[in-house]
Amino acid sequence: MAGYDQTLRPFLWRAEKLYPDREIVARTHEGMVRTTYAGYADDVRRLAGALEAAGVGRGDRVGTVCWNHDRHFETYFAAPNMGAQLHTINPLLPDKQIQYIVEDAADTVVFVDPSLAEKLASAYDPDAFGSVERIVVVGSSVPDLDLPGAVDYESFVAGRDADYEWPELPGDQPAGMCYTSGTTGRPKGVEYTQQMLWSHTMAECTEMGLGLDSSDVVMPVVPMFHVNAWGLPFATTAVGGKHVYPGPSPDPSDLARLIEAEGVTVTAGVPTVWLGLLEYIEDNDVDLSALDRIVIGGAAAPESVIRQFDDLGVEVLHAWGMTETAPIGTVGHLKPDLEDTDYDAQVEKREKQGLVVPGLEFKVVDDDGEETPWDGEAFGELLIRGPWVTDGYHGRPEANESDFEGSWLRTGDIVTVDRDGYVEIVDRADDVIKSGGEWISSQELENVIMAHDEVSEAAVVGVPHEKWGERPVAFVVAAEGADRDRLVEEVLAMLDEEYPDWWLPDEVEFVDAIPKTATGKFSKKDIREEHADPSLVENSAPERRESGD
Ligand code: AMP
Repeated sequence: MAGYDQTLRPFLWRAEKLYPDREIVARTHEGMVRTTYAGYADDVRRLAGALEAAGVGRGDRVGTVCWNHDRHFETYFAAPNMGAQLHTINPLLPDKQIQYIVEDAADTVVFVDPSLAEKLASAYDPDAFGSVERIVVVGSSVPDLDLPGAVDYESFVAGRDADYEWPELPGDQPAGMCYTSGTTGRPKGVEYTQQMLWSHTMAECTEMGLGLDSSDVVMPVVPMFHVNAWGLPFATTAVGGKHVYPGPSPDPSDLARLIEAEGVTVTAGVPTVWLGLLEYIEDNDVDLSALDRIVIGGAAAPESVIRQFDDLGVEVLHAWGMTETAPIGTVGHLKPDLEDTDYDAQVEKREKQGLVVPGLEFKVVDDDGEETPWDGEAFGELLIRGPWVTDGYHGRPEANESDFEGSWLRTGDIVTVDRDGYVEIVDRADDVIKSGGEWISSQELENVIMAHDEVSEAAVVGVPHEKWGERPVAFVVAAEGADRDRLVEEVLAMLDEEYPDWWLPDEVEFVDAIPKTATGKFSKKDIREEHADPSLVENSAPERRESGD
């Protein structure tokens, strides 16, 4: 029933009423910024008024190309609460994908950080950005770039009162959107309704989720463009916790300083971030006494990281999820009867992706579609369903056909489930590479490499890397008589033209042939087994990017 449906509005209302003085803190381009729920709620209403005046109405999409900070957080409630849809855009994607995403979503307004304005200007294409009427630069001035319709944030909201009245919305009102990359390279749009975000928030707050309450000080390091920073901005508001946003490109010393100065109790991000922090802690004195737990997800949490944080008195919660699951699906809590087992047995459990969160159901099916036993050995594809799991992609009937089975989402993750119900990911059904928590499409890289006329075959696979999780390595079959050194240079130059630095393979290896499957396709599994030796990339440490994750 409209007005009483499961929507985000009551979360903000409650935080403003019950915790008006609780803080929202952000490290920004202009230094540390502090506000309270009282001030924030006013800013959100002012922003909604400005969006309405700019023509944004029910069902319109508002794009953001921003790091983790207070202004980005304002869009999190302003757009959904007014009936519009918050569409977070990953600035680390190649220009072409950003063009595809903006065009596919038909964004009407796009918010961009000053430090990302150059990236947006480089991706700007009048056709793809045809629906974009306004670009709002989150700052007090507009950089001198080719960004038609750009206005600075202060001017955008100038003169607006904080008296915007939120409409009553139905639970099925689209509220959020995030694109996920697949092997095909064409990103797929996942839409989140009000009800999906509401139910994900409630589940995340429970003890079997991330166990948040009003005493928590939550710092999402996972980017806000990545599945709503795993829903933490919503969940922290729901419980009235303090928010800490680490801003653009935080390095381990920034994170350590924020944890100490703001008393962070919960933080979350991909493994790479925590490897960096642990390294920093080895050489520097950091007071972690406030920090209670770290949520690690997006890629498998290494055992050494779990143990090292245990030694520091910080609990690691290993979580699994996907863009399609909004994202939390499983969390590695210990069941009560396992609390008495020895430490090594407990770590073995906690290394797994964990127990399904209350509210969701899953099953694991083998190649014949039969459910596999929960014996920790038999593996199959994980299928999942529930109130915050998407039931289809935006405008992609072919993907909806292949990626869903009735109400079940086919995750593409190959897993085992043990007798205690702990899910463990053993492989991915597809071959995308995940580096530092971000996807790299192996297929796109292969297409460019194979466009070189002295390359007869090429396959790019992810090779395990201690810091980044995986790094791409290209395996190439060169035409006879080719000058290999020159070929490597030319191939890398071709890739460099189209892709960000961190997409470029760390190594180009020459092989006699690429192993094939029975149907003649490149067998990535065999390439990995035969050639993908971690020593290939152990000395490469791409000083990747301006990422905040
Ligand atoms: P994304 O949609 O970009 O969030 O990526 C989702 C995918 O990341 C999942 O389908 C898994 O393959 C992988 N993933 C997420 N969390 C974990 C985890 N804790 N361990 C291993 N892989 C993970």
